[in-house]
Amino acid sequence: MRWVRFEQDGEICWGHLEGGTITVHSGAPWAACRHATPERLPLESVPLLAPCQPGKIICVGRNYAAHARELGHAVPGTAPGEGPLLFMKPPSAVVAPGAAIVLPAASQQVEHEGELAVVIGKRCRRLGAEEPVTAYVLGYTCLNDVTARDLQKTDNQWTRAKGFDTFCPLGPWIETAPQPGPRPWDGLQVETRVNGELRQSGNTRDFIFSLERVLQEITAVMTLEPGDVIATGTPAGVGKLAPGDRVEVAVQGIGTLANTVTA
Ligand code: MG
Repeated sequence: MRWVRFEQDGEICWGHLEGGTITVHSGAPWAACRHATPERLPLESVPLLAPCQPGKIICVGRNYAAHARELGHAVPGTAPGEGPLLFMKPPSAVVAPGAAIVLPAASQQVEHEGELAVVIGKRCRRLGAEEPVTAYVLGYTCLNDVTARDLQKTDNQWTRAKGFDTFCPLGPWIETAPQPGPRPWDGLQVETRVNGELRQSGNTRDFIFSLERVLQEITAVMTLEPGDVIATGTPAGVGKLAPGDRVEVAVQGIGTLANTVTA
C-alpha cells in the first residue's frame, strides 16, 4: 500500500494510491478514527507534499562500509560494543518531492546522500531484541540527507551541516511493503542520480547495523512517535551539487524522489 500526503483547497490531506488514483482518507494513516472516504482524485491533479511531517528525523551516519571509507573514516561497528553513529536533522529541513534544494551561501560544498527512510507508525520506546520492527513501522520512503560537507568537517558537530532549510527532501510516498517477506526493507537497491548520471548505488543488505539494531539503539534513548523518520545511511558515491542540477533518489520497490537545486 502507498500513502500519499497532498494539499487540496489549502488543506493537508492523506490518501492511498492505487495506479494513478488517490483514495482520500479522513486522517493520517496512524489516526485511530481514520477511514477511507468515497472521494477519488487523479494523482497528477494535486501537488504531493512530503509524505509525513516528522516530529524528529534521526539519521544513521556511516551505515555502509564503502561510504565510511570514501570519507576516510574507520568502518563503525568493528570495536566491541560499538553502536551506530546517530545524529538528527530538524523537521524544518523537510521539503516535498519536486521542491528546490537551496544551496546556502555559508557552504561551498553541498552534497547529496540518497537513503532509505523508515516512517514510524506506532509509538515505540525501548524496543526489545525479540520484538518485530514491523509492528512499529508504517512504511518506507526515499530521503536525501543533503549535507554541507565543508561545514561538517570544520564544525565540531553536524547541526549546521545537516540542518539548513530544504536539506531533507522526502517522498514521494510511503510504501508499506517495498517487497514481500518479514523484512520488507532488506535487499533494496538504493541509487542516486544527478542529471541522469548514476552517482550512488548500494543495497540495504549491506547495512553495517541492521534496522532492528538501529531502532533498539534509538529507542533506548528516545521515544519514537508516529510520523517520525529514520534515515538509514547512505551508500558510497556522495558528491557535490550545483545550481540547476536535478537530483533523484530511487529506492527499489518504492519509487523516485526528484528535486532541483538552486543557489
Ligand atoms: Mg546520511
